[in-house]
Amino acid sequence: MSPHPTAELAQATDVPANTDALQVLPVSIDIVDSDQRFPVRRVYCVGRNYLAHIREMKEGDERDPPFFFQKPSDSVVTDGRVPYPTLTDDFQFEFELVVAIGTHASNVTPEDALDHVFGYAAGLDMTRRDRQRECNKRGLPWEQGKSFDHSAPCGPIHPVAKVGHIRSGTLNLSVNGAVRQDSVLEKMIWNVHEIVSELSKQYRLLPGDLIFTGTPEGVGPVQRGDKLTGRIDGLAPLQVEIV
Ligand code: MN
Repeated sequence: MSPHPTAELAQATDVPANTDALQVLPVSIDIVDSDQRFPVRRVYCVGRNYLAHIREMKEGDERDPPFFFQKPSDSVVTDGRVPYPTLTDDFQFEFELVVAIGTHASNVTPEDALDHVFGYAAGLDMTRRDRQRECNKRGLPWEQGKSFDHSAPCGPIHPVAKVGHIRSGTLNLSVNGAVRQDSVLEKMIWNVHEIVSELSKQYRLLPGDLIFTGTPEGVGPVQRGDKLTGRIDGLAPLQVEIV
């Protein structure tokens, strides 16, 4: 083998790729009362969408509008088991309403935005808080803090056709039975209409896209063995164990 990378690459192209050996498993999520599953295309998240959470974080200007970041689509966890990740001593939960997109949306108005929503779920934006704070301090992207394996546990999708639009009501998260986050969806700075509209100005939203809509106050760390239960009015509870 040549130690020169370019030469190695040229040599590699002479070898037919064994694509049979490539096993790429698409991620999909249960749809409530359906045999079909929701195939995940992209995972978007809203940052700083509840005032009390911005204040507890003591960073960022609360007058700034919310913003978006992404997680890898295969960071979605559907079996309720989240391994404690590498590279952190401060692994935190952020409980959030998740919006599932069902049709193509580009540059849509808030008035039309909900037509593109297929359904809703309860999800967790799991965060390496120590790495996120470091990224903030150094002006670096949030990837190490937010966009890692198993960082997006998500419950089953409840179609709008069954549950309507989830616009109001409580969301709360318990850890080992003790309530840690307890708020109402009305406290979102951007509501679902505005989130879908704003995001559709930045990206083509397509079927399979998920949007985690931001967390209220009360975020905190978890340890291996902790059991998390997240509840949102109108949706089945999300249950997750840190393993
Ligand atoms: Mn979040």
